[in-house]
Amino acid sequence: MKKGGLNPKLKLSLPPPDEDSISKFLTQSGTFKDGDLLVNKDGVRIVPRNEVVAPSVIKPSDDQLSLADIDTIKVIGKGNGGIVQLVQHKWTGQFFALKVIQMNIQESYRKQIAQELKINQSAQCPYVVVCYQSFYDNGAISIVLEYMDGGSLADFLQKVKTIAEPYLAAICKQVLKGLLYLHREKHIIHRDLKPSNLLVNHRGEVKITDFGVSAILATTSGQANTFVGTYNYMSPERISGGKYGYKSDIWSLGLVLLECATGRFPYSPPELGEGWNSFYELMEAIVDQPPPCAPSSHFSPEFCSFISACVQKDPTDRQSAHELMTHPFISMYEDLDVDLASYFTNAGSPLATF
Ligand code: ATP
Ligand code: MG
Repeated sequence: MKKGGLNPKLKLSLPPPDEDSISKFLTQSGTFKDGDLLVNKDGVRIVPRNEVVAPSVIKPSDDQLSLADIDTIKVIGKGNGGIVQLVQHKWTGQFFALKVIQMNIQESYRKQIAQELKINQSAQCPYVVVCYQSFYDNGAISIVLEYMDGGSLADFLQKVKTIAEPYLAAICKQVLKGLLYLHREKHIIHRDLKPSNLLVNHRGEVKITDFGVSAILATTSGQANTFVGTYNYMSPERISGGKYGYKSDIWSLGLVLLECATGRFPYSPPELGEGWNSFYELMEAIVDQPPPCAPSSHFSPEFCSFISACVQKDPTDRQSAHELMTHPFISMYEDLDVDLASYFTNAGSPLATF
């Protein structure tokens, strides 16, 4: 095995070229070209110099690039499912995040997982982390992702403790656009929206990640080595084992925003200073207690109303991503021209701009 647990013989597979993918290739973000090398969501390709990038030029079988050309820089994160490494392309210096999930997938699940990974790779939106390639090899799924140099909102929240409303509105707008895309265009329920699955970068961008991963992990949940993630942001209808849909993600969004605003997870344990006695107690609280709300003494009526529109216990009472886009909270700070780029870069900077 090579550095980073990757098989050096593993080749990046090339899908057959088509007009559509080539035009996206040239115009959309997430596409990278440096000399002979072209990288986009479909993989890494070598295109002979001085040739126009046209469908006829990109041959599906030639010039494949081995993952051996990618160096591991360092581990940047660990989750329940595996590790995330910062990797760099040897020739171009381009950075990627490589997520490696250890799991021995039974033959019967492979097709389904391949399908999920394909959906993952087909997502193209500025508010969703680009998935360039994925592989299954030697008991591990490796996913090459867009590198987000600001880390996750969970990491960021640890530094700043709370996020003021104007920043939160700007962050929320981007997350809603990402959700709108996943729900309406891709028909994907994220299922695991939480602060660590919202990534930020120095350009002030906020993007949703891991939208396919939870589906993959759910697929294999009958097997050993099962995912035990956080269920904290899970909607009451999911916890109860009922039917759930896109609105389940909206519940999670409401809890995430409330946590960012107040600096703590909205469901407090029964006795101060103690954690939840068991996972089941928290689950019970989410299902049985009234939903949390933003204290009106500390937050604008618009923010309180936005949270309430998200965390209705009955999903039919919750607003959709599309409806929430026009909520007054989203637009109320627009005149301030909030600079998320410097906020994310200089974490903890005072709100001097307001
Ligand atoms: P869980 O396993 O419970 O879902 P998680 O979301 O934190 O938790 P991972 O998805 O494995 O677990 O991510 C671990 C950490 O790696 C993230 O919190 C984030 O800091 C970092 N990370 C993940 N993806 C990227 C990326 N594309 N760019 C930069 N950092 C990333
Ligand atoms: Mg994650």
